[in-house]
Formats: sequence, C-alpha cells, structure tokens
Amino acid sequence: MGLFSRRKTVFVDSDVLVVGGGMAGCGATYESRYWGRDLKVVCVEKANIDRSGAVAQGLYAINCYMGMQWDENQPEDHVRYARNDLMGLVREDLGYDIARHVDATVHKFEEWGLPFMKDPETGRYQREGKWQIMIHGESYKPIVAEAARKAATQVYNRIMVTHLLMDKTKPNRVAGAVGFNVRTGDFYVFRGKAVIVCAGGASHIFKPRSTGEGMGRTWYAPWSSASAYALPILAGAKMTQMENRIVLTRFKDGYGPVGAYFLHLKTYTENAYGNEYESNWYEQTKELVGDYIDRHPVPTCLRNHAILEEVKAGRGPIRMVTKEAFQDPHLETIGWENFLGMTIGQAVVWASQNIDPKHTNPELTTSEPYVMGSHATCSGAWASGPEDYAPDEYQWGYNRMMTVEGLFGAGDTIGGTAHKFSSGSFTEGRIAAKAAVKYVNDLGRDEPQVSEQEYEELEKIIFQPLENYQVGSNEIVAGTVSPSYMLPLHGLQRLEKIMDEYVGGISAHYTTNTPLLTRGIELLDMLKEDLAHLGAEDLHQLQRAWELQHRVLASESVTHHTMFRQETRWPGYYYRADHPKLDDTNWHCFTLSRYDRQSAEWELEKAPVYHIVD
Ligand SMILES: Cc1cc2nc3c(=O)[nH]c(=O)nc-3n(C[C@H](O)[C@H](O)[C@H](O)COP(=O)(O)OP(=O)(O)OC[C@H]3O[C@@H](n4cnc5c(N)ncnc54)[C@H](O)[C@@H]3O)c2cc1C
Repeated sequence: MGLFSRRKTVFVDSDVLVVGGGMAGCGATYESRYWGRDLKVVCVEKANIDRSGAVAQGLYAINCYMGMQWDENQPEDHVRYARNDLMGLVREDLGYDIARHVDATVHKFEEWGLPFMKDPETGRYQREGKWQIMIHGESYKPIVAEAARKAATQVYNRIMVTHLLMDKTKPNRVAGAVGFNVRTGDFYVFRGKAVIVCAGGASHIFKPRSTGEGMGRTWYAPWSSASAYALPILAGAKMTQMENRIVLTRFKDGYGPVGAYFLHLKTYTENAYGNEYESNWYEQTKELVGDYIDRHPVPTCLRNHAILEEVKAGRGPIRMVTKEAFQDPHLETIGWENFLGMTIGQAVVWASQNIDPKHTNPELTTSEPYVMGSHATCSGAWASGPEDYAPDEYQWGYNRMMTVEGLFGAGDTIGGTAHKFSSGSFTEGRIAAKAAVKYVNDLGRDEPQVSEQEYEELEKIIFQPLENYQVGSNEIVAGTVSPSYMLPLHGLQRLEKIMDEYVGGISAHYTTNTPLLTRGIELLDMLKEDLAHLGAEDLHQLQRAWELQHRVLASESVTHHTMFRQETRWPGYYYRADHPKLDDTNWHCFTLSRYDRQSAEWELEKAPVYHIVD
C-alpha cells in the first residue's frame, strides 16, 4: 500500500470547470476566457490535451463548414441536412445555433496555423463534399489545444474525473467534480461554480469486431469511455436519444474512413459479384421507412441497411471500387494521404494483407455500434436551447445547460444535434462557455458549496479497487484468477458480450426485441452488482475500472432507451424485430430518461420534436 498511503488530496477552485479537453473542451476553455476575463477557468483532462480525444491522431477534413462568406450554404441548409439524415429527429434550435457560428470557428483554426487545402483558382477552401473542407490535419489537435492552454488559468492533465459534486444546499445544482491523477494517485477535489462536461463519446460498450490483441483498434477512439454520459446521468441530468447508436461502414479491419473515397475520389461500392446492389433493397426499405429512402442524400443508416441485407442474402463481401480512381496518380496520392493524416492503421492493414487498392478493390464492413453526439448520430444530454431561437419547451435556463443547474455540456455530450463533428463540437464548447460565464456572473453571492462528507465518501469508493486487489490477490494460491475480485478487462468483456447479444450488436445482426432487452437489463444489473468487486493492480487499472463504471452506466441508459422506443427508426443502426417499421404516428418524438441514483431506477418519457426550419 506504500504508494497510496502517501496519497495527497488536492483542492482546486474554479469559476468555470471544463471536464475533458478534446475539441469541445478546448472550445469551452478558450471562450470562457474571452467572456470571463477575470474568472478562474480550469480544464481537467484524463490524458494530455495536446493529443487527446477523438482528434488525437489528426483529421484530413473538417466536416462541418457552411462557407457563408461565399454563399455556399446557409445554417438552415445544414439543419435540413441533419434532420433528413437522422430520419426527422433533431433539435433544430441547437443545430441551427452551431451552424450559424461554425464558420467563425473554422476561420480561427486557420488563423492559429492549421493548414487548409485551397482551390488555387478561387482561393476558397477545397471542398470534399457539400459540408466538408480538406485540411493537412495531422497537427489539428495540438494547434487547437494551444489556444486552450493559453486561455486557461490552469490545465490539469492526467486526471480522470469520476464523479460530479452536488451543491450542499440545492440538490439539483452542480458544485464541482472529483477524480484522481492517473500517474501520482493524488485525489483531486475541483470546486466549480459552473461545470462544462466535454468528455467525448463511447466506444467499447458493444463487442468490437477486433478481437484479442487487436481489440484496441475500434473506429471511435478506444479511450472514449462514456464519461460524457455517466457523469451527467449520475448527477440526475436528463438524457435524450441514447438508443440512437451509430454503425459505420468502413474499410475492413482498419476502420479506415470512406468519406474522402466516396466524395473526392468518386469511388463506389459493389457486391462480391461486381454488381450494384442498393436497388435490390429499394422496395423492402420503402416498406420499412416510407419516403426516407427517396431523400437526397439517402440517410446514412439506410445505406448501411442495404449493405447488411446484401451480405445476409449471401452476396458479400461488399467492396469499394478503387481500381479505377487509383489509376490517376493524383487521386492515388489523396487516397493514401487520407489515411496517413488520420488512420495510419488502415494503410498498415492493407500492406499486411497484400492489398494495393490500385489492383484490388478493398472490402468494406459495418462496425460495431458506438454512442456519441457529434457524428451522424445524436445521443447525449438534454440541453436548454438558445434564447433567441429555441421553442419555450426547450428553454429552461442558460444555453446548453442540462436539467441540472450549473451543469453545461458540448460536443459528444449534448444530444439531439448530429453532424457537428470536430468544428461543430469546438463551436458548441464556445456557445456553452459563453452561457456558463453568464451563469457564474449571475450567481452573485449564491455560490454552490461542496459537501466534505460527499467528497470523502467518494474518495473511499474511487480507490476501493486498489484495496480489493491488494487484499484479494493474497487469496490466490495458484494462477491469476481471484475468487474475490474482477479485473476491469474481464468486466469490459462481460459488458460487451451483454450489449452485443441482447442490445443489437454485430453478432445479433444489430437486432433486438423486448425479451432480449429485458434479459439484457437483468444481466447489466448483475454486472453492476459485481462492479463493487473490481480489482485494480495499479493506477492504470484504476483508470480502467472507472472507465468501465462509466461505460456500464451509459450502456444501461442505451438499453432502457432502446426498450422505450417501440419502432425501428434507423434501420442499419439497429432493428427492433418486434417493431420493425418506422412509426411516425407514435414515435416522431425524442426519448428522454432520468436516472435516480438513490433508487437506481430509470424514468422514461417522450418530448416533442419541433420543426423550426421549413
Ligand atoms: C475515427 C474518427 C474520424 C473522424 N473524422 C472526422 C473528420 O474527418 N472531420 C471532422 O470534422 N470530425 C471527425 N470526427 C469527429 C470528431 O473527432 C468529434 O466530433 C469530436 O472530436 C468530438 O469532440 P468532443 O470534445 O465531444 O470529444 P473528444 O474530442 O473526443 O474529447 C473528449 C475529451 O474528454 C477527455 N475525457 C474523457 N473522459 C474523461 C474523464 N472522465 N475525465 C477527464 N477527461 C476525460 C478525453 O480524453 C478527450 O480529450 C472523427 C472522429 C473519429 C473517432
């Protein structure tokens, strides 16, 4: 116990506390300083903000840019696009709010040194598609992080936030957060008048296609561990659209992106016999979802659906036809560079499997499901909208404040707003920060107070896995399996198996029903009981233990939401076999949940979808 008996408790005071220094967190930190010149702005990150989050490895394109200066698109166009892609269900007020500000964010990135590809004739940003612009983005994250570092009073790297702290006197008000330093083991108590959660999405809640040693290779970042959901859920915040997990069509085994291939290289897909296949499934899909199949662009989930059906019909694998485009040396270079700035692993996989896309059309596959709020999906917290644009029912306080007072969010954390991507997440961080600063200023002397009893109890709970391991390992007489504790990896594999088999993962062909979900919830409950016996050998494993706790809570939320929505709204993402069709009469609505941490009960309800843009 030597190391841990020396554990210090460190207290940090802040006005605005940003949890997670990814794209949204950097945006929130930067903007908090702009509006709150004299405020104490603290950013806490479990890794190091220079290379953390989903953009850590770099990106090749910024996927959300209107181009209003050249009249390329207007914010309303983006709302229509996102609404169509999500089969009618988005928070149009929040989406519009991001779209109207996102260009200004992108211009800042350029000012800070991010290299953009430009059309040599017009000088405009080089478009990859209607919304995407191309960048040399290997250093995207360090560039953005530098702006946040300069703006923050202090950035605390290597601190895993495990819980939010609630106000001593007002139970529905946030007062800070606690966590531990993953290198020193010190316990941190952050007091914050406003807290902005920007802790990214969730991978590894469903069993991935990658197995064994390759298990760390997933499409969404393997370190996206659902804290963005678990932290607000535990604090009693309402969540929305948690059933709306995303499945990606990607190059097989490396999860390499296909966007630039479709949009820029103009490659296309075919079945194993070299035939076009989407038209085979047109009538069947129309039966399920009506005229959504006729929309342009065809919603992402429906394109997955055609692939899944074609493979089930025995005509897989689906391949990307690269042989034609790669004959052009310029396009060949772009095809490879697309991976080198973002997913080097795909190039390595192709090399190791003797695939040269100039001579072989590579296989595509569909990924395991992920939960997130910033890509072509919109799971996350239910947030108050902008004062000038949100309908009354979507406004109960400050912009991007959740249903807990003083608790804000941005990026993957906030639900209902798909297609914000990296630039939109940073922008939403800025929007949340502006509102959070106003909230702090409006507090006056009514400041939240943390409870000593609460953080002392949490300290015990947080470090318990180290104790469990220390004590339990003494009972092992041979081998490595303890009768008393469960290792985080074993817990993770158990979670992934439950979600995969009962909640619509890859091995169930993304299909589930009421009996499966009911059993899934029972098994998740049993897993939750066993989490009290997690054993952590060291601080690294302690971090894994808390990441698992967060993943399990988020998974429970996903399962309850999936049970509640009695329709199949997004075929290709998941299927409710007992309700196989889209049902606009009963389910053209948002699903909302609230978790009560005292009773461990979930309450679900519907909320209306308002169409603000025609
Ligand atoms: C493979 C891939 C390709 C993509 N391609 C594109 C693209 O081409 N163009 C584009 O614009 N967007 C792209 N995106 C989307 C973009 O990366 C996300 O939309 C964006 O990063 C979301 O921002 P965020 O701040 O919500 O999450 P993140 O950027 O992931 O940041 C979350 C941060 O929170 C930290 N954190 C998590 N939990 C805790 C905790 N408990 N305590 C402390 N810190 C914590 C994480 O370490 C991380 O730094 C891609 C994403 C992926 C994964």
